[in-house]
Amino acid sequence: MKCAAIYARYSSASQTEQSIEGQLHVCNQYAKANDLIIVDTYIDRATTGTNDNRAAFQQMLKDSENATWEVVLVYAIDRFGRNSIEVALNKQKLKNNKKILISATQRTSENLDGTKNLDGILLENVYIGIAEYYSAELSQKILRGLTESRKKGQFCGGKVPYGYFVKDKKVYVDEENAKVVSFIYEQYSAGVYVPDIICKLNEKGILHNGKPFALNTVYAILRNERYIGISRVRDEVYTNIYPQIIPTDLYEKVRKKLLCNKIGSRSVKAVYLLRNKIKCGYCGCPISAECGTAKNGYVVRYYKCIGRKKHRNGCKKQPVRKETLEKLVLDNLKDAMNNPQTVNKIVKGIMKLQEQNSKEQTILKLLQKEKKQAETSLNNLVKAIERGIVSLATNKRLNELESLIKDLDEKIAIEQNKASFMLSENEIRRYYTAAIEQESQLLINYFIKEITLFDDKIIITYNNPLNEGPDENRGFSFYEKMVFLPYTVPQSGQTISLPLYMIMRI
Ligand SMILES: [Zn+2]
Repeated sequence: MKCAAIYARYSSASQTEQSIEGQLHVCNQYAKANDLIIVDTYIDRATTGTNDNRAAFQQMLKDSENATWEVVLVYAIDRFGRNSIEVALNKQKLKNNKKILISATQRTSENLDGTKNLDGILLENVYIGIAEYYSAELSQKILRGLTESRKKGQFCGGKVPYGYFVKDKKVYVDEENAKVVSFIYEQYSAGVYVPDIICKLNEKGILHNGKPFALNTVYAILRNERYIGISRVRDEVYTNIYPQIIPTDLYEKVRKKLLCNKIGSRSVKAVYLLRNKIKCGYCGCPISAECGTAKNGYVVRYYKCIGRKKHRNGCKKQPVRKETLEKLVLDNLKDAMNNPQTVNKIVKGIMKLQEQNSKEQTILKLLQKEKKQAETSLNNLVKAIERGIVSLATNKRLNELESLIKDLDEKIAIEQNKASFMLSENEIRRYYTAAIEQESQLLINYFIKEITLFDDKIIITYNNPLNEGPDENRGFSFYEKMVFLPYTVPQSGQTISLPLYMIMRI
């Protein structure tokens, strides 16, 4: 006769879950049939399978060091961990304390008398595999369920946009607020600035949650496709959930206007390389990005003096086409950077930094720190999912974090093998000249201090080391910024990511 302890856990992740009482009942029956005396019982209630804070389980493992019981009896083996590795680890802990794990419903790798059981070993892995599969399948089922509900036109949670309300899983138009939405669209399409729209709403006494509308709220309304009846969830488009409030042509008109007014936006088509760097040579005002639509329908982008734009000071500075000005500045910058003296200076600086970094392993430490942060965020996210705070945004973030960690792992591996990746002066030279061609925005950010624009001339002020100085080393301090760029190793043709140390005078 042997002494045993029962461990039972209720996992809310499984729909066919046996209740704690059910598990205890089955275990007790098994004990009776196999001459086991139950001397202890450990129970974790209402924790999910993916939650590791199982207090009773931890206590049981701890007790296994000195306990009088020799056997841990469970209903099913998946009680012992989230996956096969965890189960194996936890079983090993028991084994170290000369205790064995027995399942009342499944064959295990060890029999009660301590003899091995080959098919039990194999089966154990299968059972655990099934539990893992079930857990994954369940989350898929939930997603499928949501998709089905959406196809039926049902509201599936989330924030209800302004102008709508939800009743019995259906979305309806809130007539009062829908009028406000229409007003915002009409005003914006007529050319009224958003702050002025808010003023007009305030005058009418129309507030949002008791306060004047925030700029962001109005922009969010102007961008919300639900007002034309479209909602998107991942790759699916649903047109049957939200009733349309705004006519499609009005929405389109507003959408185009919004695109055009996105000053300094990072949208692929319109990256204003020189924003925040140029000022007007006549009135000293900043020169900002603008866009308009030409007669043929094409969008024309240019840089325009703010003093002129708002008719503040009547500045006469002519607007300049974006492409023309950027090309002029970039050509000039590339010339300056390709100047042999400059190249030498920079390459030497990079060499020096490379040596220094190799000694101090600063980058490795930075990367490891970054990885740790990403892992913490990931853990917090997983906890949030366990608490049921799941949204599609969380899912997206989860994927992002996972690929970030994978990415960092690669970079860490490269850093750890630093010695073999130390770049020769020639390689740095090649790498640097390639970067000049590829990374315009980067070059402008780091090397251009200011651009002063006149109608007939342009003055570009560079940060050192491009400015001429009497003594090459005088007044130099290195500021480094890690930039990862693809770099093709000349010998092998293999492409890796390497840090490019950008240098400028502080
Ligand atoms: Zn001006």
